[in-house]
Amino acid sequence: MQARSNPLPPAPTNLLDFQTMFPDEQACRDYLVQVRWPDGFVCPKCGVAGEPYRNASRPLVYECRSCRRQTRLTAGTMMHRSKIPLRYWFWAAYLFSAQTSGFSALELKKQLGLKRYETAYMLLRKLRAGTTRPHADKIGGEYAVEFDVAFVGGRTKGLGHGKTKKTMVLVAVEMREGKPPEDINEKAKQSFYAGRIRLRKVPNRKAETVDKFVQDWIEPGTAILTDGDASFGNLSALGFVHLPMVTKKDPAKIEGWVPLVHLVISNLKAWIHGTFHGAIRKKHLQTYLNEYTYRFNRRFSRMASFRTLLQIGTQVGPVTYAAHYAGRVPVRENFTRLPADVDS
Ligand SMILES: [Zn+2]
Repeated sequence: MQARSNPLPPAPTNLLDFQTMFPDEQACRDYLVQVRWPDGFVCPKCGVAGEPYRNASRPLVYECRSCRRQTRLTAGTMMHRSKIPLRYWFWAAYLFSAQTSGFSALELKKQLGLKRYETAYMLLRKLRAGTTRPHADKIGGEYAVEFDVAFVGGRTKGLGHGKTKKTMVLVAVEMREGKPPEDINEKAKQSFYAGRIRLRKVPNRKAETVDKFVQDWIEPGTAILTDGDASFGNLSALGFVHLPMVTKKDPAKIEGWVPLVHLVISNLKAWIHGTFHGAIRKKHLQTYLNEYTYRFNRRFSRMASFRTLLQIGTQVGPVTYAAHYAGRVPVRENFTRLPADVDS
């Protein structure tokens, strides 16, 4: 990846800051240009960099001096073909990032004075695509990782023993040593706190499902702590340092062995319950897991996440309903790998 010569524009640190930075469409446009093309305009068609032709009557259009191709600032991004003024996008992104727990579409509709619920819903849906950095890094490496299976949503009552409507989610949490930068949870362990997390909705906890997840999301050679379940049986063979808890049946001991992953799981459940009143459809779950991951991994840099959201949003492709339902990130063909400061 080429080193960037221009730093990213600053993110607003509070409401007043936001108001000063983004008084009108022009200010939003200028900001978006900086996050989409930190090193200046690059023609998406011919790849030639250079100051584009501009036309005052069509402020969103950038024309390549080399091939004359006209590119809309928002084309091929999460704002693709949006008729909503950029100010609304920016407000929505700000509210979305600034809130600890997230925003419902109804609340967004009220706050922005939108006429239609659908507009608010669509804005949120597209912003959520900006919460997942395509080709995100694997976690672990120098940090050990706690790993477990969670059951999220649905009810188990009255289904009989061993039956569940809940969805299985694989949860990996990096163990960071020391005190967290900011005490977000009094339960945070004395000597370790949760670093980055990765979550995936899975159909089962078979070893092959588990194997795929750890290979996708955890650096080879990482020390992985789990309980004694057989589904984690291949981790050593896959090149990880597997540290299973030997005592299977003592919940207190397991709790002491993988406390961070259990903390994350209980916070995830509380978040789903609190923000969405548990009303998340199974097929949408991965989208919410992505949003949760985004919020969790950036909990110490919440305000910077406003910029991240817009930046990822300019790198992902238009968000289709199909991609949304599948919890997939639409990746633009000419996707440029995002810098590490955008990662989580
Ligand atoms: Zn061109």
